[in-house]
Amino acid sequence: MNQESRISPRRTKVVFTIGPSTDSEEMLEKLMGEHFVDICRINMAHADHDYVRKVCRRIRSIEQKQSRPISIMMDVKGPEIRTGDVDHPIELKQGEVFDFTIKPGVENSEEIRSVDVNYSNLVNDIDVGSVVLVDNGLIRLEVLEKDAARIRCKVIIPGELTSRRHINLPGIKVNLPALTEKDKRDTLVGIEEGIDLFALSFAREENDIKLLRDFLDENDRHNARIIAKIEDQSAISNLEAIIQEADGLMVARGDLGIECPFETLPIIQHNAVRSCLSLGKPVIIATHMLESMISSPMPTRAEVSDVAIAIEEEADCVMLSGETTIGKYPLECVSALTKISKAIDRHGKKFGFAENLELSSDKARIQHSAVIMANASDAVAILCFTRSGSMARGVSAQRPRTSAIFAFTNSENTVRQLRLHHGVVPFQMIFCTEPEATVARAMKELVTRRYLFPGDKIVLVSDILASDRVIDSVQLRTVDDE
Ligand code: PEP
Repeated sequence: MNQESRISPRRTKVVFTIGPSTDSEEMLEKLMGEHFVDICRINMAHADHDYVRKVCRRIRSIEQKQSRPISIMMDVKGPEIRTGDVDHPIELKQGEVFDFTIKPGVENSEEIRSVDVNYSNLVNDIDVGSVVLVDNGLIRLEVLEKDAARIRCKVIIPGELTSRRHINLPGIKVNLPALTEKDKRDTLVGIEEGIDLFALSFAREENDIKLLRDFLDENDRHNARIIAKIEDQSAISNLEAIIQEADGLMVARGDLGIECPFETLPIIQHNAVRSCLSLGKPVIIATHMLESMISSPMPTRAEVSDVAIAIEEEADCVMLSGETTIGKYPLECVSALTKISKAIDRHGKKFGFAENLELSSDKARIQHSAVIMANASDAVAILCFTRSGSMARGVSAQRPRTSAIFAFTNSENTVRQLRLHHGVVPFQMIFCTEPEATVARAMKELVTRRYLFPGDKIVLVSDILASDRVIDSVQLRTVDDE
């Protein structure tokens, strides 16, 4: 067989945010069947319930046609403060005094312009001298004084204020609940539609994750996984505890770059990825990965380097936002990520954070042996047979140097969940009663799909029959000629 036709899967997973540029059937078919996206994110800051239902059903029907299930992630907004509606854009001038009114409709007797905010307790959380950032940090104000009805500020960095702009208060612990009533309504729709992953925005401490987990449990969605989206300084202070409690982490660099000094962002990203890999949890790097490609078919050189760093750190996923919601070149963006991921996998240096992973169980030691054996023998792949997905997740957490991880499972839900994990290519198959027959069937499938060729070394992590007991085993094998 001609080895040049070998298929080498992209090891870094791609999350794309769905929006007007990508929600058509035609575009989804291309993204899912030709560009092999792994996770579709629905951003509840913009999506309504009809939209969630429409896109979930569309994605599930394309999966059926293509026999390739993906994960759908609902990004619930968490505690978010926004300005109210304005009739016309307000051009804020430097030095101008401006009011945020706490009680909607409060009259301003003086010649001071104002806008409502959607959070009535803001006046108790904020102090005189605090900084208020509006519209992704583009407009900066400082609090001069406050009373029960309004917060009076001075404009430091001017700009145009339009309706429903996001407000950030760097360093202030806002007393909004971690899971708002809107989040609960959104999550219920997500549960009805079989959403696989819930990302909780502005997760500030481990209890926030527990709240969402309890809510999922109460509503019988025990096996959905929770991604903690870290966006502010509280999350940085509680990072390890949040990672322990969640099933994965998203480094939301957009809000983090507003809530924290922007020059600290590379350090925050680095520490977050290192902590996740040391604790064996998946991590997503989000925002502005290929921002210029919203309007250009080519990435900037700086963007290529930024993506490459996430891949060298061995993050599980990189995420696209505006690039695939409103961008002109969504397919080109996914192609660019695939090219960079494969190039760094072939030639780049890795940070090796997974070496700090503690081997706290026999299962983890077996997975470690499989990875050591694969690295030492330049195995093309590690094959895992797993019902719940935990064996494949464990192998992925140890980050084999070059081997792909082919995971075979009898559960469609597990296939979807495994899309999140670095290097794992999941397949659904019916398991035979005899483990060796299952292995033979899996190898045949991989040769037919041109992932494997006769003569390839592979490592198997599988259960085998020893006398009358089923035990875990790690085996080094060569793919046979047929
Ligand atoms: C971010 O702030 O980086 C982010 C991903 O959040 P949003 O939901 O606003 O896109």
